[in-house]
Amino acid sequence: MGGTTEATALAQIIAKTPIKATISYAGRVNQIRQQPVAMRIGGFGGIEGLSRYLREQNITHVVDATHPFADQMSRHAIAACADCNIPLLALTRPPWQPQSGDRWHHVADLAAAVSYLDQEQRRVMLAIGRMYLPLFYAHPQHHYLLRLVDPPEAPLGFPSHQAIISRGPFTLAADKQLLQDHKIDLIISKNAGGTGAYAKIEAARDLGIEVVMIDRPALPKRAEVHTTDAVLDWLA
Ligand code: NAP
Repeated sequence: MGGTTEATALAQIIAKTPIKATISYAGRVNQIRQQPVAMRIGGFGGIEGLSRYLREQNITHVVDATHPFADQMSRHAIAACADCNIPLLALTRPPWQPQSGDRWHHVADLAAAVSYLDQEQRRVMLAIGRMYLPLFYAHPQHHYLLRLVDPPEAPLGFPSHQAIISRGPFTLAADKQLLQDHKIDLIISKNAGGTGAYAKIEAARDLGIEVVMIDRPALPKRAEVHTTDAVLDWLA
């Protein structure tokens, strides 16, 4: 189960082994890069649909390498694998930890991040993906800088905003420049972990910019590793 840098890396490595693998995408972005293993795109249809898919395809092992905030998919994987008696391993990245110089304000979820914006006008970089942007329409007083993978399909409901279309990964130098060019004084970020989205967090540290850091959703306990090598060991 993919949609992350880690899942792509795993697909590349598995393609060089005799293991037969399929990578699954939700289909959220317009263009999905071709992978050297079989690909399927689109939701399974809940836990039942996933269970059916696992049985029909004779899947023997499931690796959940989805994003740490794709918690519905991860819950469905736990339930469907239990239902089908198939071993499940999560390939995850450890969450980012605050370092000296970071000005993080921790919030439990997106709703709490929205509530935090109930304040005087700020210039906000909203780095949370396309799906949940409308939640922030509740605070139209701010200027929003958005970074999106695809151009928005319909006009966005922010009176003052700019959308940058870019897929990442991003560099520290470029993100520092971006934050300075747009005079950003607050960043809203999920605690994604990993390196691909970390540049803006480092840039915020260097520039003394406040970050509202959204903690990860809690998931039931599951077998979890942080490296592709550990996944290969598990498969072996
Ligand atoms: P989600 O809220 O946990 O899942 C919503 C539904 O989307 C799932 O119930 C499932 O539909 C479908 N789905 C999600 N991931 C799928 C996958 N890999 N393959 C097939 N169906 C999938 O997920 P999300 O947060 O929208 O994330 C969607 C995808 O984007 C994931 O692959 C994730 O790795 C990637 N992604 C997410 C984030 C993020 O911040 N959430 C960031 C970067 C990448 P059914 O119930 O119909 O099976």
